[in-house]
Amino acid sequence: MRTPILDYLDEVLEDLRGDTAGSTAQYIPELAAADPDLFGAAVTSTTGATYAAGDAAVEFSIQSISKPFAYAAALLDRGPETVLGSVGVEPSGEAFDELSLEGDTHRPRNPMINAGAIATHGLLVGPDAAPEARVERVLDLFSRLAGRPLQVDETVCASELEEADRNLAIAHMLRTYGVLDGDPHAVVEGYTRQCSILVDVRDLSMMSATLATGGRQPLTGEQVMTPDVARQVMAVMAAAGMYDAAGDWLSRIGIPAKSGVAGGMVGVLPDQVGIGVFSPRLDAVGNSHRGGAVFARLSRDMGMHLFAAGQGPPDSVSARTEGDRLVLSAQGIVQFTAAAELLDLMAGSARTSTVELDVSAVHSFTDVGRRMTLEGLRRLRLEERSVALRDPRAVLPDPDLGDGSSPELL
Ligand code: GLN
Repeated sequence: MRTPILDYLDEVLEDLRGDTAGSTAQYIPELAAADPDLFGAAVTSTTGATYAAGDAAVEFSIQSISKPFAYAAALLDRGPETVLGSVGVEPSGEAFDELSLEGDTHRPRNPMINAGAIATHGLLVGPDAAPEARVERVLDLFSRLAGRPLQVDETVCASELEEADRNLAIAHMLRTYGVLDGDPHAVVEGYTRQCSILVDVRDLSMMSATLATGGRQPLTGEQVMTPDVARQVMAVMAAAGMYDAAGDWLSRIGIPAKSGVAGGMVGVLPDQVGIGVFSPRLDAVGNSHRGGAVFARLSRDMGMHLFAAGQGPPDSVSARTEGDRLVLSAQGIVQFTAAAELLDLMAGSARTSTVELDVSAVHSFTDVGRRMTLEGLRRLRLEERSVALRDPRAVLPDPDLGDGSSPELL
């Protein structure tokens, strides 16, 4: 059996593939020339299971998606007091490259706009850090978040540095107000190198899944950042990640997210999933056009919205075989992550002639958890295996397998 999550992601990309609105980032020559049709998406659960579709192996520069993760590094290196003294946490309601500071404090409004991200880069490591040490710091942290060594695309970096007047103007402005201590040129160069780190959609979904777990990389098990830092990063992403579209995004889609001008996007739901999407055509505010549409679909179809109440934390699932019978059991509240694990167990375990799903310890299913679980049972039935359900408290009422039939009730 193949997990339906992959079919679902393929279907979402297929449905949106024909939407060619927007254009590649024109102000960085190397990005302007990118293949605009590339399209990939990946979802990683908090257990590290990654489901990827489309152009999932294509690398692109991380660009502004580096900002929340560099903010995490600065919080770890310098502590919240120092970082908040230099960079605020208010949505700016302005474009990402606006030359503006808070009127009274002269801080950039948040770390997601260029002014705040350049100030944040300048805070990395310590007050007298060498420019190379700051770049090394983000490269090392991003690699540990992704779970593999990442690299800088020097061609993209050089291409952006040729057109960096606006970011240089921002850095000089920061220096005149004492927000930036270092040499503005060196900081902009380091920030641009940070933006040129190459990732694919799996890296992005893994990096954001590490935020979703409160900082523990799901595959390596490393606690890459503290839960407090992960919380701060997700909160600021929710408030300001989508620039001047942040309020519309948070209410309509409800997945804290960050976009980059190469066409990447990340999204995160605490205790649930990390999401990475890539599609180079951008909308008017500089967010990936089809990327945004993928998030809208996930939010709608999967009930993935930060404020979708009534969804408890995921709980454990397990499998055991008893002779020719596979017994799957779940506990607690079955939402996306638990259902994804159940589907993986259905897809991956021995091909017994009978499969029993024991939900006697389940408190409830969320809508997406119920639909995913029933689809898994339907696929098992298609493999001509008998499917049985142990559900003494009827937490999965009316378990229709799509053809009007139900599992055998135990
Ligand atoms: N490197 C880009 C810049 O500073 C990042 C902007 C973005 O991805 N929104 O302009």
